[in-house]
Amino acid sequence: MQLIESLYLGWSPLDHPADCPNPAWDVVEIRHDEGARIVQTGAERHACANDTCSHADSFGRVQLRLLCRDCGSVRTITGEGLTQVCTDTSLTGWGQAPRQVGGVWLWPGQPAAPGREPHDYLVTREQADAVTTESLYGIITRYRDAEGTPRWIAAALPDPTGEHQVHTLRWRHRSAGLADLDAAAAWIAVAETRTQRPLVVAV
Ligand SMILES: [Zn+2]
Ligand SMILES: [Zn+2]
Repeated sequence: MQLIESLYLGWSPLDHPADCPNPAWDVVEIRHDEGARIVQTGAERHACANDTCSHADSFGRVQLRLLCRDCGSVRTITGEGLTQVCTDTSLTGWGQAPRQVGGVWLWPGQPAAPGREPHDYLVTREQADAVTTESLYGIITRYRDAEGTPRWIAAALPDPTGEHQVHTLRWRHRSAGLADLDAAAAWIAVAETRTQRPLVVAV
């Protein structure tokens, strides 16, 4: 299972030059071949002490090549021991369309099994193309309380100096345990207005 924040954040599009009229990759191809290790002289054998290395003079190389016909950009990504995972959005959560609940948009984390409800959601206020550090507004995560009852924690307003931590991120506001996902979404929708309401002190 991947943490929901690494599922959505820290990824950036492979960009095109700023003047590209239609920044979309037209061709995406993969190539498997043998790559040669770089050694100092022709006679020298690769002999490093790293036991995760195969110590061979060649290695299984994977190259991924992308072409944009509009700007002519070619990007090649290559590496040793690259793995390729074929899956789909029912297993990743990421890539599914967000859904609107309680006035905010919920982006699913990875479900424990296909078709199961994920334990985590990231939240944006507006319908966006993607969750980014700019559009991220909240997080909802499920846990079980001492009696084993499922509960949901909601947090809103990401802030590196926020006083609440949920997963690896810090937030300005965090809820108590809530009964269901709808309640958690509704809590996030009004998190700012609720906590900014001035305290009325009777004198
Ligand atoms: Zn382009
Ligand atoms: Zn080696």
